[in-house]
Amino acid sequence: MTLNEQKGNMYAFVTHTWNPIKGKCSHDCKYCYMKVWKQKPLRLVEKELQDDLGQGNFIFVGSSTDMFAVDVPSDWINQVLECCSRYNNTYLFQTKNPMRFYDFRGKFPISSIFGTTLESNKNHGLSLAQDVSARATWLSNFKANSKMVTIEPIMDFDLVPFVIMIKNIEPQWVAIGADSKGHGLPEPSKAQIQALVAELEQFTDVKIKANLKRIMKEGEGE
Ligand code: SF4
Repeated sequence: MTLNEQKGNMYAFVTHTWNPIKGKCSHDCKYCYMKVWKQKPLRLVEKELQDDLGQGNFIFVGSSTDMFAVDVPSDWINQVLECCSRYNNTYLFQTKNPMRFYDFRGKFPISSIFGTTLESNKNHGLSLAQDVSARATWLSNFKANSKMVTIEPIMDFDLVPFVIMIKNIEPQWVAIGADSKGHGLPEPSKAQIQALVAELEQFTDVKIKANLKRIMKEGEGE
């Protein structure tokens, strides 16, 4: 059984994660939570394509490595999407390379949500992934019924350009989370995050992740 029930610091509404493509992600983000484990080479675990994905689930596909990174073979992605389409679930596809969504248009399951990570509107040089403005532009221009943005781990940002960047995507929701592993990232203050949330709530649903509480408790009890 490789369809995993959601646990840990995941989106609360996701019921399962599924990772038939595994291994070292070429985006090599400094804060990647997968780095606490020894990482094997990238691979498609074909027997996982025989998994029963059930029905009525909300499955985050590719939560442990970015399955749309440039070095992931298209054939692997096609096989994963074909498998997903056999089961009546909602699927979340989240990548730091949304340009690649375009290569698979017409092959995604009917109920798919397309997302990208924007840790900030600024590039902080902590990832080899496509720069954040390019990610935002590619997802903005991608035609889909449902899109999302995750701001995790949140890093220092410029409020107005960041809000515009996100608004252009027209996300159904935006999740905000923080570094949970003490990587010493350049983080915004509680007040900056409160201002961001207030702006985002003008046009989308904002989902606050549990790991953001560390920053949002700043100043309490002083
Ligand atoms: S894109 Fe995601 S899986 Fe890939 S290195 Fe970055 S945090 Fe890890």
